[in-house]
This record gives sequence, C-alpha cells and structure tokens, in this order.
Amino acid sequence: MIVPPGSTIGIIGGGQLGRMLSVAAAQLGYKCHIFDPHERPCAADAAAQFTHASFEDAEALERFGMAVDVATYEFENLPVGPLRILGEKLRPGARSLAVAQDRAVEKQFIQDCGGRVASWRQVSSLEEVRSAVEQVGLPIVLKTRRYGYDGKGQAWIRSEGEAESAWDAIAHEPAVAESGVDFRAEFSVIVARWSDGRHAFWQSPDNVHREGILRVSTIPCSDFAALQVAEAREAALRIAEALNHVGVLTVEFFASESGPVVNEIAPRVHNSGHWTIEGAVTSQFEQHIRAICGLPPGSTELAGARATMENLIGDEVNRWPQLIGEQGAHVHIYGKGEARPGRKMGHVTRVSR
Ligand code: AMP
Repeated sequence: MIVPPGSTIGIIGGGQLGRMLSVAAAQLGYKCHIFDPHERPCAADAAAQFTHASFEDAEALERFGMAVDVATYEFENLPVGPLRILGEKLRPGARSLAVAQDRAVEKQFIQDCGGRVASWRQVSSLEEVRSAVEQVGLPIVLKTRRYGYDGKGQAWIRSEGEAESAWDAIAHEPAVAESGVDFRAEFSVIVARWSDGRHAFWQSPDNVHREGILRVSTIPCSDFAALQVAEAREAALRIAEALNHVGVLTVEFFASESGPVVNEIAPRVHNSGHWTIEGAVTSQFEQHIRAICGLPPGSTELAGARATMENLIGDEVNRWPQLIGEQGAHVHIYGKGEARPGRKMGHVTRVSR
C-alpha cells in the first residue's frame, strides 16, 4: 500500500519525536495529525491537526483512525488494546509495541531471536529479588517491567544489604533483575524496515549516558564498538523481522568483552538517531515516513566524516543564544516550555566534512 504525499499521517504521542516526524513528513507534502493527552504537546505546533484525548479513549482513537490514512506512534508506553481499532493502518503494528513495553517479554523475545542479553530474572517480591541476587550475582539493576524510560524505574544493588532499599525504590513494581554489564562502550543499531522486507541501516553511533539519560552520540563509533556492529545488525534485523516491523526500529547495545549485549529495543525513531537529520542523506524521521507510507528507501550514507549530537537537558537549553551563534551548529529546540531537570529540551548536532 502506497500512501502518497498529500495524505494525512496520524502520530500517537506528541513529544519531540512526533514533532521531528511531523517536520519530515511536511517536507514530503504530508499532513500530520497528533494524538496526545496533554493540552499543548510540542508536536502539535508542527502538525496540521491535533486530537487532545487520553490514550485509553477508544472512541477518540476510532475517530482519529477514520481521519488519517496511516498511523504511527512515537512513544511506547501506550495501552495496546485500544490501538487495535486502527487495524492495518497502524505501522509499526501493535506487536512491536507490546513486546517493547514490557522488559520481561522484550528480553525473552530478544533471546528467542538469538540476541545476547545480560543474565536476568523476573521479580515480583523481595524474596525473588534476593534469590536473583544469589543466582545472577552482583551488581544487579532492578528495572520495572513497564513505564520506565531515561533511567526512571531503575535501582542498582551493589551489595546484598541494598536489596530491600532498591526494591522499595522501584515501589515494589513487577520488575526484571538484570546483571550489571561491564561494557567498554554503548552503541545503537538503527534500522528502517519496509513491509516487503527491504531495510536500511545507518552507521551506528557511540552513545554516552549520564544518570540513565543519553548525553552524546558520536559517529563514527569507537573501534571497539565498530567490531561488534555486524553481529549487532544481524540481531537487530532478526528482531525486526520476527516483529514484522514496519518503520524505524532501534536496538541499544553494550559493547562488552564477550560481544554485543542487547540492552533494550525501541520500536520507533530514537534519540541516538537525531544526528541523522544533518549527518546523513536521509534522516531517521524521513525514512520512517517513507517506510510507513511505502515510498522507496532513501540513502543512509553519511553527509560528513563525523557527526556529534549533544542533548540539551533541563536548563542546558538556556545556552541557546551561544549555540545559535556558533557557525555550523544545528540547534533544535523542542518548544516544550518549562525546562525541568532531566527533561529533554533540545539537541545540537555538529557535522564535520
Ligand atoms: P535503560 O533505561 O535500560 O536504557 O538504561 C539507561 C542506561 O543505564 C543505559 O544506557 C546504561 O548506561 C545504564 N544501564 C542500564 N542497564 C545496565 C546494565 N545491565 N549494566 C550496565 N549499565 C546499565
């Protein structure tokens, strides 16, 4: 099915990813319709239409489904049930979402696809946390199965005595207990896949996180990570195929001494791919639109020899006057309003020839 320019693309979720998808879609002549429960989400400023409704609101989703030609999502903590009303119009499908939004289901799925993950156990009581500590060994990180992002819903256990406080810190939510990975680098594989199986990878960036939040992505990645990219791509593609995924899929990896270890998957465009807007011939946002609309793949070649993307977190966005004045710095400000600590407010990309 080809969805031609002039059609309307529905985007569920109205954050910065929806905003950048809308900008890319508008360039190709599409109109976007954002669906989000917030009063004035930042994506709505860049879109033709906006539905303000709860993600649980089946009637609003049905009306939205009738108003759009194809629908996608930019956020994975969505209830899957009400989305089923969108049927074949939803790309990627609900399966990609269902797998990615539950860390236990996700890890099992990755393993079933032959991907390597850190040793892990499902835990839903303090006793299970304690036995996971014994079986998996320390250090361990507890991660809630659902609704965690940017390091939220996570607590480390570095000594046996910390098991209880970590369990309290995640509010006794069902969780996975996973072994701390001794990694030399973190990198991601970003792939776009079409319904007929065509696919395209971008170069993998090295990603540096602080307090669970991505700070900087760099292209090309370090030599150590680069040696693991081929194996990581194979795993990412097996995951995309098993999900019958249409659109962009991101798989985050730890580059460890024993090879690439999958951290998590995101069934969508990703922060570690923002550099592609200026650093690649086709950005992840445009490619996602191409894939869900059945247009041909764009080139994922680099536009320069090197690219770095730096996130502007919280009040770092106040550096904008200096950044805007810097020649060659591509400044993106998401227009989100209050610069709360830990909130992604913008990013800046620098590409060198
Ligand atoms: P996540 O929200 O799962 O992507 O975790 C955010 C960041 O925390 C990761 O990018 C890593 O820097 C760190 N982290 C998460 N899980 C582990 C782990 N099992 N071992 C070591 N570091 C981790």
